[in-house]
Amino acid sequence: MNQKTYEQAELTTDDTECAQCGATAEGTPATWTCTIANGTRQHLCDTCTRASLRVIESHLDPVPTR
Ligand SMILES: [Zn+2]
Repeated sequence: MNQKTYEQAELTTDDTECAQCGATAEGTPATWTCTIANGTRQHLCDTCTRASLRVIESHLDPVPTR
């Protein structure tokens, strides 16, 4: 059995953009979070991960900032 609890971030050389604040980073930093919201893969930077921790843990979609 090799069941993944969390989706592993893609290995990519492309920049990763934070879905919340728009911050970018090269590749996918280990401190960032990858979530699936509405079938779309979204990344959150470490700052937004902490800010959204309660939202993520309650399995609610992140509140749009736009
Ligand atoms: Zn962010």
